[in-house]
Amino acid sequence: MEIVKKRIGIVGGGQLGKMMILEAKRLGFYVAVLDPGADCPAHSICDKHIVAAFDDPKGYAELAEYSDVITYEFEHINAKALEDLEKKGHVIYPSVTALKTIQNKNLQNIALEKNQIPIPRFSLVTNTDEIRECGKAENFGYPMMLKATTGGYDGKGNALIKTENDVEDAFKQLGNGAIEVMVEEFVDFEKEISIIACRGINGEKVVYPVAENTHKNSILDVTAVPANISQEISDKAADIANKVMSVFEGVGTFCIELFETKDGEISVNEVAPRPHNSGHYTIEGCFANQFENHIRAIVGLPFGDTSLIMPTVMVNLIGESDGPARLLGLEEAYNDPSVHVHYYGKSESKTDRKMGHYTVVGKTIDDTLHRAMELKKVVRVVGE
Ligand code: ADP
Repeated sequence: MEIVKKRIGIVGGGQLGKMMILEAKRLGFYVAVLDPGADCPAHSICDKHIVAAFDDPKGYAELAEYSDVITYEFEHINAKALEDLEKKGHVIYPSVTALKTIQNKNLQNIALEKNQIPIPRFSLVTNTDEIRECGKAENFGYPMMLKATTGGYDGKGNALIKTENDVEDAFKQLGNGAIEVMVEEFVDFEKEISIIACRGINGEKVVYPVAENTHKNSILDVTAVPANISQEISDKAADIANKVMSVFEGVGTFCIELFETKDGEISVNEVAPRPHNSGHYTIEGCFANQFENHIRAIVGLPFGDTSLIMPTVMVNLIGESDGPARLLGLEEAYNDPSVHVHYYGKSESKTDRKMGHYTVVGKTIDDTLHRAMELKKVVRVVGE
């Protein structure tokens, strides 16, 4: 196979696309991105930027013309346009079949359940009576989650139903029947963990160490590795991740988000067919990071070592206010040489927008977590 000067097309030019490009460039590849944002994070480092909407088939066709292989950095994209290109012989990884299943949380759950992968109980619903039926004690009981089956991210598209009184509001909040929704039993979890897994074209699989995640307003806040979990849970997570990669025949990097319950069980919350925010720790924390192994996977190269080098903590830099973005505290943060700041280069800060992240490495996870938390007061992104 001709590896040299491979041309890669990425649907999406956000921070994940940007970090994929940095790894593709290490091997001298050329990269085009499709993104509607003229100054998206990947813009400054890609070879070609196709400025087109994510539903515009023409943009996809132009991307395909440029690329030997197409991949994507998020899942809310035009699967039909990609399917048409795949039928014409264009190479797309992960496959469009995997994308279409994962795009829809109901189809995703059905595929996982069919393959005996543990997930919370769920039920597609079309009206408030059906939601109330789910809420009965003999079914899921309250609280429970109402979820839009497509288009959700960072908790947008979810509504918590604490009691029967919340049913009407939750249903209205999620489109009042205009979009497909499902109810999921509420998992009273002890911890949220995730595991990054990669699968090659030839079926070779590797997994990364389990990450422990904490969220704020449903947005990832902190990832700590190693996770404070038993070896048994860690082995179970790796086993599930391997199974998930086989189920979807995923080529590339995937993320499997999991709940650990108080009684030591784990279940899958959701699968992302792409590198993930909770895998950013791998850039400094592991020998080969999730983006490098994604690029290796889609061009047919063997994987790099996924082992953890040292305890690592990742903290997201979330916009604190709206306006032209300003990064504060960089110099002060760099007084500690074990700190790495990643600034995505988005010109506008918005409250709750992911603007960057930083990573701290150290000898022990406790010390590393402590230093990472202290830095939160220092490194911040505000809208001027
Ligand atoms: P998104 O696709 O928007 O990232 P998720 O479905 O992962 O949304 O949900 C976001 C957060 O909501 C999760 O990280 C978790 O904290 C919480 N959550 C989601 N589903 C459940 C559930 N069934 N039980 C308890 N908490 C849940």
